[in-house]
Amino acid sequence: MTFLQEVVDILLAYIMESFDRSTKVIDFHYPNELLQRNNWELSDEPETLDDILISCRATLKYAIKTAHPRYFNQLSTGLDMVGLAADWLTSTANTNMFTYEVAPVFVLLEYVTLKKMREIIGWEDGRGDGIFSPGGAISNMYAMLLARYKMFPEVKEKGMSSVPKLVAFTSEHSHFSIKKGAAALGIGTESVICIKADERGKLIPSDLERRIVEAKQKGYVPFFVSATAGTTVYGAFDPLIAISDICKKYNIWMHVDGAWGGSLLMSRKHRWKLNGVERANSMTWNPHKMMAVPLQCSALLVREEGLMQSCNQMQACYLFQQDKQYDLSYDTGDKALQCGRHVDIFKLWLMWRAKGTIGFEAQIDKCLELSEYLYNKIKDRDGYQMQHTNVCFWYLPPGVRYLEDKVERMKRLHKVAPTIKARMMEYGTTMVSYQPQGDKVNFFRMVISNPAATFEDIDFLIEEIERLGQDL
Ligand SMILES: *Cc1c(COP(=O)(O)O)cnc(C)c1O
Repeated sequence: MTFLQEVVDILLAYIMESFDRSTKVIDFHYPNELLQRNNWELSDEPETLDDILISCRATLKYAIKTAHPRYFNQLSTGLDMVGLAADWLTSTANTNMFTYEVAPVFVLLEYVTLKKMREIIGWEDGRGDGIFSPGGAISNMYAMLLARYKMFPEVKEKGMSSVPKLVAFTSEHSHFSIKKGAAALGIGTESVICIKADERGKLIPSDLERRIVEAKQKGYVPFFVSATAGTTVYGAFDPLIAISDICKKYNIWMHVDGAWGGSLLMSRKHRWKLNGVERANSMTWNPHKMMAVPLQCSALLVREEGLMQSCNQMQACYLFQQDKQYDLSYDTGDKALQCGRHVDIFKLWLMWRAKGTIGFEAQIDKCLELSEYLYNKIKDRDGYQMQHTNVCFWYLPPGVRYLEDKVERMKRLHKVAPTIKARMMEYGTTMVSYQPQGDKVNFFRMVISNPAATFEDIDFLIEEIERLGQDL
């Protein structure tokens, strides 16, 4: 008990520090140096609990403070106190989601929450199916697996040699997990056809239809379209209604990858961006991104009931005995690809209880308001050029801004974001992501999901970029 009390003290101190703007986001060291800063090696002999406390402190000392109001590096940021408490409770309960008998409460909470999420999508009476998975990439793969099974149920027993050549479609701006899923499922990355996006990053429906027709003419079987609601880089929303019309016409499974943007369904102000989502066969929605539920928490929602069960079940008789005395539909584990499954539901459920739907709505609206504030601030400011809604932008330092030679200018601009980012990490003052895209050189990608961020933090970010980049 004394040991645990001390651990809790360390954690509470870390939390206090994380929210303090005067502390660093990260105490960054390059890997070789970090390896030498502490003894990380494992030994044959046990250590004392005092040593263990020292290890805990050292680990947190060099960790990234993802709760820090100036941490913008990923789509998952922030630390919600109720979510954290729920995570602690989950670890303390230390159980497995696979059967009702070992997780009675958590299984029911998953049932209740998935139903609520399906109601929010707009499926009648919240009917349908779903599961919490280890992340959006896995949720997307589940969707592809279900789509294939729906069209060719024999694939479960006979494998890929029993089905014709399948092709899937998604936009060129979609998340890489669609291709990864195709690789893992034996469909192959070349069978994922990337559809053109317009200059705002939205899939072009006419190009989708053209490519479907073209694939059919070649004798391929289109089985899966993944539309993205909130692309990872630009934050673009594909036109779901037009896409669903095409899917219906050609009888193709429509999936919506709302890992990033799905949470907007909880906002009355912004949910129109997902108009048509209720027509989808499945949807990925990651509460661990815009809703700031502690990692990890991702749901796959499926319109058709029972499909996940028949697609994935193996009825292992040591676990899913068919003669148990309770309703076996609560043994949700056989729907999953995993055997054991982590309890991710409690964090979301408890936060939802604490905030209510309107609390999540307010939190999401605030993130979008901050993005808009950033957009408006840099739109007319010297040295910035805008990309799109996730607020992707270039900062052109004075030395680059006035360069006449276009090729040289692009070459130099390409190095600006990585240089500023490296300096940011060394100073540890803030963190934001960057990347190139297509023919566009490295730009900053600013995403806001951190409930602790304020207008002042946005101002700080802009000034920090200028401070760190002025000599470039
Ligand atoms: C983040 C993201 C994913 C992957 O989600 P993980 O939880 O990181 O596996 C998939 N699709 C989109 C659009 C994303 O933004």
